[in-house]
Amino acid sequence: MAGTDRGDLTRTAILALLGTVGPLSRTEIARELELSPASVTQLTRELMGSGMVAELDLKPSRGGRPAQRLGLVGSAGRALGVKVTADHLVIVDVRLDGEVLGSWERPFAPSAPDSLEALGDAVASVVDAIDDAPPLLGVGVGVPGSVEDQAVGTVNAPTLGWQAMPVGERLRRRLDLPVLVENDVNALAAAERLYGRGRTHRDFLVLTIGRGVGAAVVTDGRVYRGARGGAGEFGHFPVTPGGPVCGCGSTGCLEAYVGTAGLAAAARAKGVAVLDGGAAAREVFAEAATILGRATAGLVNVVDPEVVVVLGEGTAQWAHWSESFHAALRAHLLPGRRDIAVEVESWDDTSWAQGAAALVLATPFDAAGAAGEQGRLVRARLIGAAT
Ligand SMILES: [Zn+2]
Repeated sequence: MAGTDRGDLTRTAILALLGTVGPLSRTEIARELELSPASVTQLTRELMGSGMVAELDLKPSRGGRPAQRLGLVGSAGRALGVKVTADHLVIVDVRLDGEVLGSWERPFAPSAPDSLEALGDAVASVVDAIDDAPPLLGVGVGVPGSVEDQAVGTVNAPTLGWQAMPVGERLRRRLDLPVLVENDVNALAAAERLYGRGRTHRDFLVLTIGRGVGAAVVTDGRVYRGARGGAGEFGHFPVTPGGPVCGCGSTGCLEAYVGTAGLAAAARAKGVAVLDGGAAAREVFAEAATILGRATAGLVNVVDPEVVVVLGEGTAQWAHWSESFHAALRAHLLPGRRDIAVEVESWDDTSWAQGAAALVLATPFDAAGAAGEQGRLVRARLIGAAT
């Protein structure tokens, strides 16, 4: 039994390596994981036999024989990702390699007494609608709130009116599938870890702007969750004593200036609309961008990331933010950090839900077992479907 566990862990480590670094030769795998060439040959033969890994192109080499590279097979599995908002759900169907196979939008009333039943119905209707292949590994759910434990999935989300909501437990019972629940920004960070910055960076910051303002801290390749799964509530960073009232009940929070509602209120105070393009509206963005840049500098000074990735529906207007944001950021960064890269990535309506799907798709690559029992069930479905 112990031997089987060790083999499983090593197979997971090989998948993790190929999933995060990309295709590698057997020699490179052996070197990275400090395994003997014989065990790499044996384990990769098993992974190829089970359809999870395939031989790709030949890597040219100087002298010697060219090395055959191995890569993950995207069609080995799929996951559903669900983004929960205050008035609708977005559900996506995503392959192991990140390709989106389909997306759905459903109206949703989180404050309704039967909201978890409605959530279960919506996801079940999609589960029924999709094909059997690739195999469905599980369901990831992203919520704008804190989640104590991904694998338990109890949610506190004031903006949804949810307190100690047993989202994970109810969905697992309804769907009979592994379910992982996570804060939506942390889920985006999981997707970045798997398909984005995580391929080249171990320490990065994800910043989201839009209706809310959030951050996720990835340190040494892991999303920092905090003691109660509530880390990254950057929107409630206090900016000004006695400032505008925030959705959290406090005043003067970053989100009260930079979130969609805060921007609209600032524009109204100037007698304009946020997106009318005039000088006054541009000033609204410039003031908010200065506040965001200054706060982000504080966070970068504390966390010391390699790169800051900006995401969220608010990035559609990034051209209005950019100049003032960068000026304020640079002005408040410690010397030696002022050249930090800020990357604004493409965004669409399904991006949040793709992050939620990545919670599930990342678990086969999670040799440390951060997704707990649900992660183990996901891995078992992947290996079981293939053999
Ligand atoms: Zn607040």
